[in-house]
Amino acid sequence: MTTPVERPLIDGFGRRISYVRLSVTDRCDFRCSYCMPLDQSFLPKRDVLTLEELATIADAFIDRGVRRIRLTGGEPLVRRDVIDLVRAIGRRLADGLEELTLTTNGSQLARFADALFAAGVRRVNVSLDSLDPDRFARITRRGRLAPVLEGIAAAQRAGLRVKINMVALKGLNADEILPMAAWCAERGFDLTFIETMPLGLVEEDRTDRYLPLTEVRRVLESRFTLVPSPERTGGPARYVRVAETGQKLGFITPLTHNFCESCNRVRVTATGTLFMCLGQEDRVELRDLLRTGGPAALDAALDRAMARKPRGHDFVIERRNAAPAVARTMSVTGG
Ligand code: SAM
Ligand code: SF4
Repeated sequence: MTTPVERPLIDGFGRRISYVRLSVTDRCDFRCSYCMPLDQSFLPKRDVLTLEELATIADAFIDRGVRRIRLTGGEPLVRRDVIDLVRAIGRRLADGLEELTLTTNGSQLARFADALFAAGVRRVNVSLDSLDPDRFARITRRGRLAPVLEGIAAAQRAGLRVKINMVALKGLNADEILPMAAWCAERGFDLTFIETMPLGLVEEDRTDRYLPLTEVRRVLESRFTLVPSPERTGGPARYVRVAETGQKLGFITPLTHNFCESCNRVRVTATGTLFMCLGQEDRVELRDLLRTGGPAALDAALDRAMARKPRGHDFVIERRNAAPAVARTMSVTGG
């Protein structure tokens, strides 16, 4: 049940912020080719928020009316003792927070599935770009498919709802669109397709891998009847139902679709940088404020951030010749 909030976070365009993506680490055990370079360097430990600081930031947002928190990274489950943070935030599920979720590459999920459920998590998003072991290794560069599939099965056994995220990559997994939809339908998983976004410098020219989701849709429609769904989450995803199976499919098309008018979210990096928009550089640094001024300084900073949340992003891959719209990678901002 939603309780009234005394001072909700409302930005200059009247949008109420109810959703935060909180990155718990910039580190990852994979090096997905579209996400980060092979020689990615990671942040020094002192720059990264402690688990207690992350929990304090989550509390500050919940106190101001945030109802959903998604933990992400980097790979959230490679952060040591991350489950303590999940438990700490999970305690707020009876006290303001309505949903705590996690986006993961699945590599550590087998170890953590039961503990996540016990802490109050009910849904996880698992990134899975291929069901072919060799391809999976090629895309993730350090990942192995088998532990991820084991992790997904463990999540299901633990009672977690699983949604699969698949980045559509021309020449890499375009022929797996229908097999992936079938694999997910058999297991009762929703599936969301993601277009590559020009975030951060990676080795490849992203225009070579850019597969518009209009093409993904065309492939799906060759087999299925897609019924548009009115569901909106305040983010870039648009949903359809597959008439034949009832499966929910999502499409995240930040480059071709304008979703900013209904944006309800902000992102916080593992260093405590609050980004009001995924596609803009404007930010508010929370870490030093928190370390010197405590929760009161943090609370005041949220108001300053709201006043500065921009109307929308500036992603147009063609116009930019595939140059990154912003220099930071998704693993830094928290996808
Ligand atoms: N490591 C976790 C994972 O892979 O799910 C969480 C963080 S990851 C940055 C979150 C999501 O962002 C993943 O689904 C990943 O595929 C997606 N992603 C990363 N870089 C991207 C890019 N340049 N364009 C589109 N999606 C991207
Ligand atoms: Fe790691 Fe996720 Fe980025 Fe892949 S997409 S490199 S799993 S953070």
